[in-house]
Amino acid sequence: MSETVVIRSDILIAGAGAAGIAAAIAAAREGKDVVLLERYGMVGGGMTATYVRPFLGTVGNPNIGNEIEERVLKYTSFMTPVESAKAVLAEMLQEAGVRVYLQTQVIRVEKEGRSITKIVASCQGNPLYFTADAYLDTTGDGNLSALAGAEFAIGREGDGLVQPVSTMFTIEGIEPDYGLLCEHEEHYTVLPNGKEYLDLCHKACESGELPPSINIVRLYATGKKGERMVNATQQNKVDPLSPEQLFPAEYALREQIVSVVRFLKKNIPGFENIRVNGSAVTAGIRESRRIIGDYELKVEDLFEGKRFDDAVVEDAHFCIDIHNPDGAGQSETEGCPYEELPYEIPYRSLCPKGFDNLLVAGRSISGDHRAHASYRVMRICMAMGHAAGLAAVQMSDKKCGTREVNVREIQKVLRINGEGAEA
Ligand SMILES: Cc1cc2nc3c(=O)[nH]c(=O)nc-3n(C[C@H](O)[C@H](O)[C@H](O)COP(=O)(O)OP(=O)(O)OC[C@H]3O[C@@H](n4cnc5c(N)ncnc54)[C@H](O)[C@@H]3O)c2cc1C
Repeated sequence: MSETVVIRSDILIAGAGAAGIAAAIAAAREGKDVVLLERYGMVGGGMTATYVRPFLGTVGNPNIGNEIEERVLKYTSFMTPVESAKAVLAEMLQEAGVRVYLQTQVIRVEKEGRSITKIVASCQGNPLYFTADAYLDTTGDGNLSALAGAEFAIGREGDGLVQPVSTMFTIEGIEPDYGLLCEHEEHYTVLPNGKEYLDLCHKACESGELPPSINIVRLYATGKKGERMVNATQQNKVDPLSPEQLFPAEYALREQIVSVVRFLKKNIPGFENIRVNGSAVTAGIRESRRIIGDYELKVEDLFEGKRFDDAVVEDAHFCIDIHNPDGAGQSETEGCPYEELPYEIPYRSLCPKGFDNLLVAGRSISGDHRAHASYRVMRICMAMGHAAGLAAVQMSDKKCGTREVNVREIQKVLRINGEGAEA
């Protein structure tokens, strides 16, 4: 019988999306041997596979997210943002020397007491075994943590529903002189024919021209004249963790693309000749597991702009953006009114309860449903990833657990709370 080969690294990161890539680059630049596992055949997660753009949210402290964004935007003079992200993210990981395993999905986690001892992943039918000093779950869905037996919460209080899943797509063929964009200003947009754009969307939803879950069609610039990224489809009441529900959702979302395109062609001057020229590889999941950590970030903390001694993200800011789990539009914050103040994310929210060598970063950190609706955006996830990567470096250097990490050292590098400002 052949001997099992275990692939060893200093740091093992599962999930090459916004948070995972930032974490991997941060740790590799500190000289660490980093392995990054990704179930798809490309890196980027939301940025590539689910076609997400633009980068939303703001973060007060400098972090690798700033550099990622700058480099992605540089290529957009000759590539769409999604294509640019595919190239740039791969380039940055390669430059940093991260060992990336594509088509490699974490399927099992072995542990002893409070520590993970081994990760089992599957690549093209081959089992692969990994071990490291520190493990980071940046799968967005908290998959690694759940496989390890971590506690998690899901959905909103009361009915447990999560935000809808959506398939983003792009259209081309818009009259080049007509610059209609609806990147949240759709609320005030009046078309050349005098009709209000948002009103038109709402009426189309009521009349059945648009599906009942769609009463707003957001149109984002892609950098190419006559092209837009469309953020409109939404399928409600889908459990993103249920294998039985994913295909029906995929099917419904693809049908919704057809309805949205017909609506735009018929009602929007300059859109008569549009064509779909690309779409996400997979339906985008906004919300699933929130891994229970040492501190649950609450929406009240956001309204208060709460400060934490162990902050690892400073002045994070984005509205409580809850796409209605139960119908069309937003559930409580139509138009992103920004009622919350710039807030901090504490390191403790990245530390899953009951584990000593596991951190979570990205949208599945410990927080409530409403707080998650703000910190889930990419700039904030990248900032968390950078912080988690630095924490993992310490865990590997000092052979220590997550709770022995010196957070002030992270704050110094990230210039948080006035730390490291003289550096
Ligand atoms: C439709 C939609 C529109 C959005 N619009 C915006 C927007 O305009 N601007 C914005 O900033 N944010 C937007 N968001 C939110 C944002 O895209 C995500 O919340 C963000 O990308 C989360 O980052 P992450 O790193 O936590 O996870 P992701 O970016 O999802 O990355 C997780 C990665 O882990 C991989 N993975 C999962 N499980 C495993 C496993 N078992 N083994 C190996 N790999 C695994 C996945 O394939 C993926 O690549 C949108 C989200 C959706 C769904």
